[in-house]
Amino acid sequence: MALILTHAAILTMDAAHRTLLGQDIRVEAGCITAVGPGLPLAPGDSVIDCRHALVTPGLVNVHTHAATALFRGLAEDLPRDFWAGAYRVPGQERFTAADYALSLRAACAEFLLNGVTCIADRLAGMDRLAPVIEASGLRAVVGSTLTDERAAEAWAETDRLIDRFGADPARSRITTAIAPHALDSCSDALLADVSRRAEREEARVVLHVAQSAPEVAAVRARGHAGALDCLRRAGLATPRTVAAHAIYLDESEIEGWCADGIAIAHCPASNLKIEARTIPLHRYVGRVPVGLGTDWTASDNAMDMIWEARLAALVGKQSAGDPTALPVATMLRMMTVEGARVLGIDHVTGSVEVGKRADLVVWNLDRLEMAPAHDLGANLLYSASPRSVRDVMVDGAVLVRDGRLVEEEEAALVAAMRRAGWGGLPA
Ligand SMILES: [Zn+2]
Repeated sequence: MALILTHAAILTMDAAHRTLLGQDIRVEAGCITAVGPGLPLAPGDSVIDCRHALVTPGLVNVHTHAATALFRGLAEDLPRDFWAGAYRVPGQERFTAADYALSLRAACAEFLLNGVTCIADRLAGMDRLAPVIEASGLRAVVGSTLTDERAAEAWAETDRLIDRFGADPARSRITTAIAPHALDSCSDALLADVSRRAEREEARVVLHVAQSAPEVAAVRARGHAGALDCLRRAGLATPRTVAAHAIYLDESEIEGWCADGIAIAHCPASNLKIEARTIPLHRYVGRVPVGLGTDWTASDNAMDMIWEARLAALVGKQSAGDPTALPVATMLRMMTVEGARVLGIDHVTGSVEVGKRADLVVWNLDRLEMAPAHDLGANLLYSASPRSVRDVMVDGAVLVRDGRLVEEEEAALVAAMRRAGWGGLPA
């Protein structure tokens, strides 16, 4: 039995960046098995009519900490040194394990409603949290936070993640990354251990790099010329590394960074909110893999990848001083297939092509913000929003239908937050 999406407009994100009109997509056993006009239906096949809809690959969020979703709205307009300290938001000390699990369930639901089908997620205790992500239906690359302070515990958590999920995206919807916190909270010895372990597991390394001036100062105090030098000496200056932020690289580091091919998780909203600066995006695009991340809700309140891409494009044009920089196609690819490439899973997901897993978003073209359809890609980047999302599937499983969660009740999740004392309003 197959699932057939019929009469769709498709932004494929394939190598030729083709847009197809009036096409069907056949999904069998979680995989795209055919794309073409008028595909035959067999008895028992189910159909999703996409006559007034646009189908794209699911959006790939390459940097987030979903279990902290309940911190939304707790840390606004704060000075830089608040964030460069211990990253404590007011009230964080009373957050329990159950709160983290609820927060994660709500975040996964919100991501799905927003058209996100894959996240790269890091937090301490990820071995206990990852099953919540797995149950949501999302695809994910997960890692347990490694720091000098909790290295033994975090390596044990990482071992458990590898035992359960492995690191091969072709075999598991959830895969393991090695996840050091940042260059200042991890010693050179720990970072070198990370590099060796990632190579052995063929896993990605996800970490914060050059997110603040104090972090870079700490790295220099250890005798490195800067963040790039620190990564190089640890053996982490490779495309296997996914560096979030990278906003405090100096001019002399940018060329070297691109030569080494280190992937970037660009988080423009988080960077602008807490540091009032961001990367010169145009300097990296096309030279290293670049994806987009929503980071955590304390530093970026929205879990909306469209808004993130729009911000990246517009601020990126300003920093390039060039309105032709970062064109629509580049930004659409950044939130789909390029994001998948950052995470090393672009052979599995990120485009609408035969052989890829069916991680798809159906956008409603009967919405006013999606009309007129002179340029479907421009509509998606510059006028769409989560309200334009109609259906979402991961691995061929339909998780959002007609803008509503299939497995969860949105209002029930908000009610659960209120009951747990995290609603911001009386229960
Ligand atoms: Zn982060």
